Amino acid sequence: MQSRGLAVTAAKAPLEFFEFTRRTLGANDVALDIAYAGICHSDIHQAREEWGPAIFPMVPGHEIVGIVREIGTAVTKFRVGERIGVGVFVDSCRECIHCKAGLQQYCIEGMTGTYNTLERDGKTVAFGGYSDTFVINEDYAVHVPENLDMAGVAPLLCAGITLFSPLKHWGAQAGTRVGVMGLGGLGHMGVKFAHALGAHVTVFSHSPEKEADARAMGADDFVVTKDINSLKPLARTFDLILNTVSAELDINKYLELLTLDGTLVVIGLPGKPYAVNVGSLLDARRSLSGSMIGGIPQTQEMLDFCGLHNIVSDVEVIKADYVNTAYDRTVASDVKYRFVIDGATF
Ligand code: NAP
Ligand code: ZN
Ligand code: ZN
Repeated sequence: MQSRGLAVTAAKAPLEFFEFTRRTLGANDVALDIAYAGICHSDIHQAREEWGPAIFPMVPGHEIVGIVREIGTAVTKFRVGERIGVGVFVDSCRECIHCKAGLQQYCIEGMTGTYNTLERDGKTVAFGGYSDTFVINEDYAVHVPENLDMAGVAPLLCAGITLFSPLKHWGAQAGTRVGVMGLGGLGHMGVKFAHALGAHVTVFSHSPEKEADARAMGADDFVVTKDINSLKPLARTFDLILNTVSAELDINKYLELLTLDGTLVVIGLPGKPYAVNVGSLLDARRSLSGSMIGGIPQTQEMLDFCGLHNIVSDVEVIKADYVNTAYDRTVASDVKYRFVIDGATF
């Protein structure tokens, strides 16, 4: 299938228009017309090779929402004309214990990413969602509630599930004191979900001007981190802290904010290792953990939850030719709160 999208041809090169071919529809495949594709900071890390060697040309994009255009002969999960979502992976081994448990993101053989990887045949380059069309095996796509704004749905496929999953795993509910570090694409979804689950939510941000937005999204408190001393009075007051910051920082200052048995979950991935003061862990039996997106069943659960609670991402819809500026603005934390590319502009 012929596709038109945006690609990076070398590390740090700007994105440019790119024509390419997607596989012909297999029996279990669904073809979709992409309505919107979100710009995740992970796209930028990979396009700029901040996570190590990447595959070029790269068509980034793993926050995809669209309309089913055609279905393979054996497809039962989707119908033509229906809404469909695709996230950070398009396949996995299907056989390992994690795949069988619906935790495909932790596939022991490694999930097949939506882009910047080879497909499971070991030779076809996977091209992502900054494009007009997509082909996906039906098992790795999800249903999108009809009541939600499509542009605001796209970021749910990565930013949304990536925050929903740890909040559920660590049992955020009424009475849980949750901290969200960084009010970006991921962080703002964390605020919305934690609030909807009934938790008390505090945002840690280096952008003071985001306070009103954070509170409108459901934050109870807002802490400006520019002066690191502002954290001191909050020592031992959090059950769960989700770190979505895309840049390097001193994690130890935040570990100390955890109460007895509290957990700090690393989600942001700037690329370099953290220096951890293990004394802070011992001091209150604290845990430092990590979490990566979510499996297909939980992604569906998250979208259904959004449909029920009317939750979508706050987005700035852009045309495809604005994407290089959007990258720079995202790195500068200047986006409210996710750029989403209009699929009709490729
Ligand atoms: P984003 O929209 O750029 O948000 C990151 C936020 O971090 C910014 O809005 C900003 O929040 C804060 N920040 C940025 N630079 C900073 C600096 N120099 N100092 C302090 N704070 C800074 O990025 P995103 O798309 O949400 O992604 C966040 C991170 O999560 C990225 O590293 C991404 O690769 C990673 N990620 C991980 C997963 C996973 O499965 N674990 C999934 C997707 C993405 P304030 O302005 O509020 O301070
Ligand atoms: Zn992402
Ligand atoms: Zn597996």
